[in-house]
Amino acid sequence: MIPETCSVALPIPSPQPYVYAVPLGLADRVLPGARVVVPVRSRELVGVVLEVDVAERTELKSVLLAPDPTPLVPTALLELAQWMSRYYAASIGLAFRAMLPSALWGGSRLVASLHDATSAPGGVSRAVVEALERAGGSASSSVLSRRLKRPVWDVLQRLARAGVVTLETQPPRLGPKPKTERILVLRRMLPTLLEREQVFGRATRQREAYEVADSLGGEVSVRHLSSQLRFSPGVVRGLVERGVAVIEDREQPRDPFSDVISEPLASPSRDQAAAVDAIRGIDPGKAITLFGVTGSGKTLVYLEALRDAVRAEQGVIVLVPEIALTPQTVSRVRGAFGDTVAVLHSGLSDGERVDAWRALASGAKRVAVGARSAVFAPIPRLAAIVVDEEHDASYKHGESPRYHTRDVALRRGRIEGARVILGSATPALETWAKRDRIPVVGLPNRVSARPLPEVALIDMRSEARVREARIVPWSQALDAAVDEALRAGDQVMLLLNRRGFAHFLQCPDCGHVWECPACSISLTVHRAPAGLRCHYCGYDTPLPHSCPECGATAHRTRGVGTQTLERWLAERFSSARLARMDADTTSGKWSHRRILEAVGRRDVDVLFGTQMIAKGLDFPGITLVGVVDADTGLHLPDFRAAERTFQLIAQVAGRAGRGPRGGKVLVQTRTPSHFALQAAARHDFEQFAERELASRQSPPYPPHVALVNVLVSSNQETVTANAAIDVGDWVRGLIEARAPGSIDVIGPAPAPLARIQRRWRWHLLLRGHDAAQLGQVMRYAAQRAPHTGRGPVRVVFDRDPVSLL
Ligand code: ADP
Ligand code: ZN
Repeated sequence: MIPETCSVALPIPSPQPYVYAVPLGLADRVLPGARVVVPVRSRELVGVVLEVDVAERTELKSVLLAPDPTPLVPTALLELAQWMSRYYAASIGLAFRAMLPSALWGGSRLVASLHDATSAPGGVSRAVVEALERAGGSASSSVLSRRLKRPVWDVLQRLARAGVVTLETQPPRLGPKPKTERILVLRRMLPTLLEREQVFGRATRQREAYEVADSLGGEVSVRHLSSQLRFSPGVVRGLVERGVAVIEDREQPRDPFSDVISEPLASPSRDQAAAVDAIRGIDPGKAITLFGVTGSGKTLVYLEALRDAVRAEQGVIVLVPEIALTPQTVSRVRGAFGDTVAVLHSGLSDGERVDAWRALASGAKRVAVGARSAVFAPIPRLAAIVVDEEHDASYKHGESPRYHTRDVALRRGRIEGARVILGSATPALETWAKRDRIPVVGLPNRVSARPLPEVALIDMRSEARVREARIVPWSQALDAAVDEALRAGDQVMLLLNRRGFAHFLQCPDCGHVWECPACSISLTVHRAPAGLRCHYCGYDTPLPHSCPECGATAHRTRGVGTQTLERWLAERFSSARLARMDADTTSGKWSHRRILEAVGRRDVDVLFGTQMIAKGLDFPGITLVGVVDADTGLHLPDFRAAERTFQLIAQVAGRAGRGPRGGKVLVQTRTPSHFALQAAARHDFEQFAERELASRQSPPYPPHVALVNVLVSSNQETVTANAAIDVGDWVRGLIEARAPGSIDVIGPAPAPLARIQRRWRWHLLLRGHDAAQLGQVMRYAAQRAPHTGRGPVRVVFDRDPVSLL
């Protein structure tokens, strides 16, 4: 039957698809998944057809054009987009934005290019061809419409079918990309603090810029220095005038993975072979968790398990948390599957991204490797999806739809009958709690019979400190261990948890930390008005004078940043080559890789930084790992603080002792008896999981309950607070009326990160045992709650949040 109408998803926030009439001439192309150009108010937009024959044909505007000879979006992805839109209460258009390369979607222009003008018929067609010739061979449809003073869609369509023109959608123009980049290259090395002081004197900004460049391997793009790190042009000039650095113009890098060399694969051990068999044994569409300790060789298991599928011309997806942090995994996949691999990474240009998408869709490439969005790779005959380091928080998308890649992978596996492999040494408790449905296969030992490193907890309440370190927590034990490792020519890794922005209160004598009696999360110290506050429920209590456990005087903790640590390390180990890795040093695209390569070449003695350094790295030269302050993470006001700390320490510990020289881990803390630290020290995930799952029973937190974080923000503090209260009252009223007693509303309260990018933030939590019902309430509220329309206040519904900061 010939379709008369169709519903179309558009790249606009509107939650409902629009319905259009299908002109007879386009009926063969207007199919679900095909792109169409449609009129929307005064604009013409590219949309994706969801369904055909959706309504009686009355008073509808018509589809203008259908550029895809066959539907662009495969049926399975169409279904996945619809699921995401519903589950996360996001518009279907935003779901496609997350899914499709931007050049194929979203505010795109339709560009016609002359292909073969000889066969052009007369009349308007002739006029369009002439207009194109005058425009140098190609022009956008809207330009042509203006020139000819009439809509040209029908004409372009006819010309395209006759082979006279080709039609392509192009992304909105964002201005030409710079072809070359200005790079600050250091010419003089100042390894010791003394030298830096002599050269820079009081020019501290110049010295800081020098240190950034130094920690990045001696060069940094000027744009990164100015736009991300806010160094003024004068600072950069100063470095050049002092003769410390020069500026070079460089070509922009092309595919940074094109030259990745692949290593040959080992043959699997007995444990690995058993795991491969277990994976092959699950039914298509089902999932399995590969629970393998750090260094157990999970990558090889993935590759072996995928090999048959790739040989049989089926497709697979390998997901990694952050591709720039995991060059080793990428190179191993390349090594195993060679030319069939498409690496999807943030360094691709719009055009390259479209090329990769088409190569995968056509079957020219069958293996997609990438971070989050690679879960949408348009692979036909998808056989398997690997989610490596499945516990990693970066798998959650930060914008609408706020999807969790692992959950999307599980859903996609079910839709397409693909096996899903969730791999981790520290599975997320959400995953672990499902082990009745998602079986677990373990790799309990490291490869080649290497032991896991010994982990020592250093009690900072009693341990002798190095006094010169001042505010940096630095025990004599850690000091001696670093010194010994460096003397032996080994490499050291030091982890400093994210800056303690939310200051908790801790007793210096016994380590007691004040918590909310209702929410069991750490209370945060506030100065004005003075008090301790809960960032979930709003509970408020005066600052105590003494510790309820031991009576000692209470004391506010101070977070130390990576820069402070860097100063101290440079002073203490003046001949060591240091590399710092944190958000400041790595926002340049490939800087991670440069730092990691330097570590791999052993050009770095001490690698230190935030949790970035804890991910999947495999450097046999690292024999010592130090966690400078385990407490900042342990007492973040987030119910996952203990889990994150356990993961972080287990993962960072997993970096030590991968070589024949073994390794050890030192963890500095004031709460050495905390079960998360105790379990991490014993590498005992199962025991940690048991304790933590029990502690999340009361008050209940995921995975025992489902959670939605409702974040309210605006650029005025009181407006935000009042709006959050409005939303809270409205939601409470809704639940009272519709489903009394089934869903708790906690808060509203100021978010722990009270202000981000000039917006004040408040939040409330919706918590319920019945996830489906919670989803319904969220969908209803997302459309009807106060302030959800246009206006100065933004209300965001984040289902299954991974961060509540
Ligand atoms: P995981 O991801 O489980 O922490 P990796 O996959 O990074 O571990 O593997 C750790 C190291 O062990 C890598 O250097 C890898 O090449 C090596 N390896 C893996 N399997 C074997 C094997 N069967 N024999 C020898 N070395 C192996
Ligand atoms: Zn509370």
